[in-house]
Amino acid sequence: MKNFELYNPTNLVFGKGQIAKIKTLIPADSKVLMLYGGGSIKKNGLYEQTLAALEGHEVVEFAGIEANPEYQTLLKALAVIKEEKIDFLLAVGGGSVIDGTKFLSSAALYEGDSPWDILANRIRTVKGMPFGTVLTLPATGSEMNSGAVVSRKETHEKLAMGGPGLFPQFSICDPEVVRTIPQRQLANGVADAFTHVLEQYMTYPTNAHLQDRISESIMQTLVEVAPKVIADPSNYDVAANFMWCCTMALNGLIQKGVPTDWSVHMIAHEITAHYGVDHARTLAIILPSAYHHQFDKKKEKLAQYAERVWNVTEGTVEEKAKLAIEKTEQFYQSMNIKTRLRDYTEDYEGFAGKAAQSLKDHGLAKLGEHGDITPEVAKKIIEMAY
Ligand code: NAP
Ligand code: FE
Repeated sequence: MKNFELYNPTNLVFGKGQIAKIKTLIPADSKVLMLYGGGSIKKNGLYEQTLAALEGHEVVEFAGIEANPEYQTLLKALAVIKEEKIDFLLAVGGGSVIDGTKFLSSAALYEGDSPWDILANRIRTVKGMPFGTVLTLPATGSEMNSGAVVSRKETHEKLAMGGPGLFPQFSICDPEVVRTIPQRQLANGVADAFTHVLEQYMTYPTNAHLQDRISESIMQTLVEVAPKVIADPSNYDVAANFMWCCTMALNGLIQKGVPTDWSVHMIAHEITAHYGVDHARTLAIILPSAYHHQFDKKKEKLAQYAERVWNVTEGTVEEKAKLAIEKTEQFYQSMNIKTRLRDYTEDYEGFAGKAAQSLKDHGLAKLGEHGDITPEVAKKIIEMAY
């Protein structure tokens, strides 16, 4: 096991009716900017619930943070923060609203020329404006981690940022919100969380037994709840297990003491940046090819995963490892998620080269747990995923 530090200051407030606690979680004298997306919270009652919980606070609203939060939109919110002298941010939404809010938390205190530099130059945020979240879509784990991803359409960029200053102060996770989530987003949530676990787990054996077992448990639980939550998102117990899995998949715990991969995410971001495909779906496109390409370096762990998560009992290490990739691809497909780029666009010829160049331009030239996924290798992986 590698050395590690475990730091996670987010107060995760989980369960029915917890939104009412916002009152006590935000300092009484703060001026709050409540941020949300395209309007789902106005249809499912969360808007009213949140405003009721904010009674007594001075509140300004900013609506319209889109899926894959867009830099230009966030600049508008930044102007509101400055004009209104906001000192607390409250994200009410999924990963996109929360990530957008993290960017704003950082940008609000940034003293450089252009806040885009935070993303382009990968500036770590040590201190951000305080913020909390009300999670409406289990998927990304953003409610309990310090990372964010922001997109810029005009330049086809989708870049990550982070730092110890970007943990939410609190996150309200009420599984009752799951009942209004459309099937496509539920499937995306499962696929994103499942892939988060794999990115931290599927490297090489490291004798980190507890991390392995926790990762395997999260994946087993997701496999168990996926068909159930998609069939009936109003089942509270299923929704609660789904929600907790998504948070646990990316709150830092399972990445401690182990090497992590993340090449699937980094390569997949290029697909969203170019084609606007949902984040989770881009992962399902890239992961099978990435694991086939890295097969020899990952096969022991793939075989362990086949045994423990998919109950594969027979075959050589290679056979089990191959089956592990197949089972993973079938799992995505079982939720109606297609796993080839050509399923999403006809215009894919030449994309791999552009994506490889973009990775290179952004200093993402040594991806994966071995740092051996160069832009050239990423290009091959993408071509295998056409
Ligand atoms: P999302 O982009 O936040 O939301 C997707 C859609 O779901 C939106 O149209 C939203 O509509 C709708 N929605 C959300 N909650 C709903 C509800 N309760 N009922 C009905 N509709 C609802 O999806 P996401 O998968 O959570 O976030 C994706 C983003 O997170 C990507 O940019 C991805 O790269 C990033 N990400 C971040 C991390 C991290 O650790 N920070 C990790 C992985 C991915 P409205 O806009 O109308 O609300
Ligand atoms: Fe993700």
